[in-house]
Amino acid sequence: MSLYNQSVSKIEHHTQTYLDDVYKKVTERDPHEEEFHQSIHVFFNSIKSTLIKNPTYIEHNILERLVEPERTVVFQVPWVDDSGKTQVNRGFRVQFNSAIGPYKGGLRFHPTVNMSIVKFLGFQQIFKNALTNQPIGGGKGGSDFDPKGKSDQEIMRFCQSFMTELSKHIGPYKDIPAGDIGVGAREIGYLFGQYKRLRGQYEAGVLTGKGLHYGGSLGRKEATGYGVIYFVQEILKSFGLYLGGRNIVVSGSGNVSIYAMEKAIELGAKVVACSDSNGYIYDPNGINLETVKRIKEVEKKRIFEYIDHHPSATYVEGCSGIWTIPCDIALPCATQNEIDETMAQTLIKNGVKIIAEGANMPSTEEAIRILQENDIIFAPAMAVNAGGVAVSSLEMSQNSSFSSWTLDQVDTKLQRIMKSIYRSCIEAAEEHNQSGNLVVGANIAGFKRVADAMIDQGVV
Ligand code: NDP
Repeated sequence: MSLYNQSVSKIEHHTQTYLDDVYKKVTERDPHEEEFHQSIHVFFNSIKSTLIKNPTYIEHNILERLVEPERTVVFQVPWVDDSGKTQVNRGFRVQFNSAIGPYKGGLRFHPTVNMSIVKFLGFQQIFKNALTNQPIGGGKGGSDFDPKGKSDQEIMRFCQSFMTELSKHIGPYKDIPAGDIGVGAREIGYLFGQYKRLRGQYEAGVLTGKGLHYGGSLGRKEATGYGVIYFVQEILKSFGLYLGGRNIVVSGSGNVSIYAMEKAIELGAKVVACSDSNGYIYDPNGINLETVKRIKEVEKKRIFEYIDHHPSATYVEGCSGIWTIPCDIALPCATQNEIDETMAQTLIKNGVKIIAEGANMPSTEEAIRILQENDIIFAPAMAVNAGGVAVSSLEMSQNSSFSSWTLDQVDTKLQRIMKSIYRSCIEAAEEHNQSGNLVVGANIAGFKRVADAMIDQGVV
């Protein structure tokens, strides 16, 4: 072995030892946080080449500082249900990293929410936010409260109790929550109302995803889903291809799914399936989005109702079977770990060309490996679903300048941001000799921005 090769392998060995040591510390410190460990494992594997190239990141022990949130808050949320009974839920806010701006990230209300889920989401949010090039740090929060089946009054009382504690930790220059699973315009409205009452002043910039009557931005509701499709368009364009005529399967039928479907259909694609947490519908004629919107957004009912209106469609109980439907493009837009190894193999067998993650961490690490080994274009959540937080940041800009932009203005900015994220991913992957690997590209591009800011600011 030449002297040069010997020194390269020594640096590689040193880097791998550092990554293993930090990973071990994390898993030993919080052994039950499986989703958090999964997100760190994928992240560490994909940024190794930039640590080898820039040893200063190890010298400053950046990774150990990144994996420990700057602050976590866990609190009791007591509330009274419609029958007069007192209920208790658990609330969380993880303020992960503020190197490039105030903490920013959504709130999730779902029975599965725990510290592991909030930490994996918060950790990924750091780099996603950095990729948008907006001045926002990373955070996330939520509660194990289940809004399903609750009355409006119950949801309002829960949100008021949740905000009573959360308000002590957030603010327009400190931490700006938004929505996520189970938290839409209605919940944000109740949260904002309570924050305003507690503070005794109007601070529009404390939450994003607000209603249009009181400081919300046009285009925020659509932003994540539209952004997913703008990112897919960039991928297709790089091969001289277009969305028109492609078959798409989208999981979920919530905020991200509905607006991904809307933009895909507008651009000439055919969406043949979507789902909710009970099952999925398949409509070979193409999903009728108006019906889905009415069932899910207005009536807040289950997706199986769709087949009563469209005899060409079928309904299947259970969620994972949606990935057995042949498609050109698969968009997992529901929740974490929807696509495992078996589903990845099924998608490949059925001819999928692109998988773009609308949800956060919807593919397992094993699924990602199989897809990449089979040359399927795999676009990670960190880049693909960043349109939501990007427009949240535009909402903050409008609030602080007392202005409101037209839908066209917001949409043009969103398209520009998604293009720029795609370019950053491609360039970072090329720079690290892994052309086309969007996981490596997204993670490195986001990581470098945050790590460089941390070094500039010293040990704080
Ligand atoms: P919503 O609550 O609006 O919708 C979630 C959808 O996923 C619903 O259709 C829900 O079904 C379904 N779902 C939830 N859990 C499961 C499950 N275990 N199995 C199958 N389906 C399930 O959430 P969003 O659309 O806002 O969020 C979806 C994903 O996108 C999440 O991973 C979120 O973190 C991510 N995301 C969201 C952003 C946003 O701006 N909203 C921004 C970036 C990422 P049901 O109707 O039965 O509850």
